[in-house]
Amino acid sequence: MTSATSRYTRIEVPEERPEERTEDFREVLHAYTREEAVLEAQRCLQCDLPFCVEACPITQDCRGYIGLIADGRFDEAAHLTLVANPLATTLCKVCYHYCEDACVMKGRGTPIAIRHLKRAALDFGDSHKTYVPSAPKHQRIAVIGAGPAGLQAAWELGLRGYGVTVFEKQPAVGGQAGAIPRYRMPHHEPLIDLQRFRQLDVTFVEGKTAGVDFTPESLLQEGYRAVFIAIGASAARTPGVPGETLPGVIPALDFLYDVNLGRPVRLGERIVVIGGGDVAVDAVRTSRRLAPHAHVTMAYRRTRAESPAGEEEIRETEPEGIEFRWLLSPLRFLGTDHVQSVVFEKMELGPPDESGRRAIRAIPGATESIECDTVIVAVGEKADLAGFPPELKLTIGTKGWPEGSRPDTMTAVEGVFAAGGRSVVHAMAAGTKAAEGIDAYLARKDGRAPTPRPDPFGEGAPPPWIPKGYSGPVWRP
Ligand SMILES: Cc1cc2nc3c(=O)[nH]c(=O)nc-3n(C[C@H](O)[C@H](O)[C@H](O)COP(=O)(O)OP(=O)(O)OC[C@H]3O[C@@H](n4cnc5c(N)ncnc54)[C@H](O)[C@@H]3O)c2cc1C
Ligand code: SF4
Ligand code: SF4
Repeated sequence: MTSATSRYTRIEVPEERPEERTEDFREVLHAYTREEAVLEAQRCLQCDLPFCVEACPITQDCRGYIGLIADGRFDEAAHLTLVANPLATTLCKVCYHYCEDACVMKGRGTPIAIRHLKRAALDFGDSHKTYVPSAPKHQRIAVIGAGPAGLQAAWELGLRGYGVTVFEKQPAVGGQAGAIPRYRMPHHEPLIDLQRFRQLDVTFVEGKTAGVDFTPESLLQEGYRAVFIAIGASAARTPGVPGETLPGVIPALDFLYDVNLGRPVRLGERIVVIGGGDVAVDAVRTSRRLAPHAHVTMAYRRTRAESPAGEEEIRETEPEGIEFRWLLSPLRFLGTDHVQSVVFEKMELGPPDESGRRAIRAIPGATESIECDTVIVAVGEKADLAGFPPELKLTIGTKGWPEGSRPDTMTAVEGVFAAGGRSVVHAMAAGTKAAEGIDAYLARKDGRAPTPRPDPFGEGAPPPWIPKGYSGPVWRP
């Protein structure tokens, strides 16, 4: 059993060794044992004002489940987690744990391992319950897109007694979470989460594309009372340079989906991944596993310090035999019938702009060429709005997903809502906002009060967790 060296040091979860984990897609991070989870949870200060909870986009009561784990009460910890988080099995593997960045223990040592403890709650507690809907409303809502925003909205609406039909263009649910590599999410965890939706009136229709098979307007005409557009940003951006349509230049999103769906992918011996975000990191690590003897390079136009990828992801990638090249921006792709090299401009950092981020500029005349068999492009995503009428006046979120223009996420067309998010948990928060907006809109139309969210398990809300020795008011999300 591992033990913490002090209250201020986290009990780390074991990791697969780099030389072995890159042989296949085995999960890199292991889980806590029951004893390790209890010890880690006992480090938590059970703060009166839990910044961790405030920082979580879905205000998950993590302080509560940590307190229960510290007492060995895993069933209650699982209940408290799942009662407010229908995608907890997914999030306990891939959430970017905004809560941990806000944890007061971060300033004193290492933050509490809140995400790993969520996993322990589900591993050792009863996580197989199913959600129970309230009285059926006999009204159907259409959700377009089965990513985290769409799934969360379906859950919120299903619990309130609505019937929900989720239309998805892909042959699988999960949205971009379906592109997350198996070494991070080995079992396509959204499907495990969806097992708990069994009793809700939520139907999935896969392989149907808005704009091709139907439109938001046609769904309203069919009798759906409202439509939620949750299509995320599922089309790849391109660098916009000559040669980007050459065979062998592939978008990272397509590459990662193909690998997860078991489709054949040919990479060759020299692979260059262009980009500096989490998707680029997933693409280099996946390439390493598919082509263990290949030379894999990740090229980014800024430096490591400005890289949008998480520190945790880069730290895990470093020992896996990847060459990182910073301050390189693609200028053109060369080749005749297949890509053979990438010509990069060399960049340098300039002074910081108003946001404090240092600008980059090309060093005049400085270029570098890297020979390659495959280029994987991970320079961002955008929404594919083909088939969505301009009357919706969709605005585009910071990372490319469409949003409604009103605070309740309604678009310019009555009854049509749109939202998404920059991470799984942000998209879930957006899904909740849209579902609440839809319920409030229909309540107004039908002359009734909005439906309060019923207890998801139909057995009374769990008692609030009261920190030991604490007698003040209890805060509960
Ligand atoms: C490789 C990769 C790794 C990531 N890793 C993480 C991570 O570790 N942690 C994290 O929190 N986030 C991660 N993200 C980001 C996260 O997956 C997204 O922020 C989140 O999935 C967005 O959710 P969404 O529901 O708004 O949109 P999406 O997940 O994009 O879902 C939209 C869905 O709508 C469908 N759709 C699109 N157009 C249509 C149409 N016309 N008709 C019908 N259906 C349509 C799409 O097929 C898709 O299933 C990752 C993303 C990628 C690409
Ligand atoms: S969902 Fe993510 S941010 Fe929220 S408590 Fe869990 S790990 Fe933290
Ligand atoms: S997880 Fe951190 S911030 Fe949250 S209650 Fe515990 S010590 Fe406080």
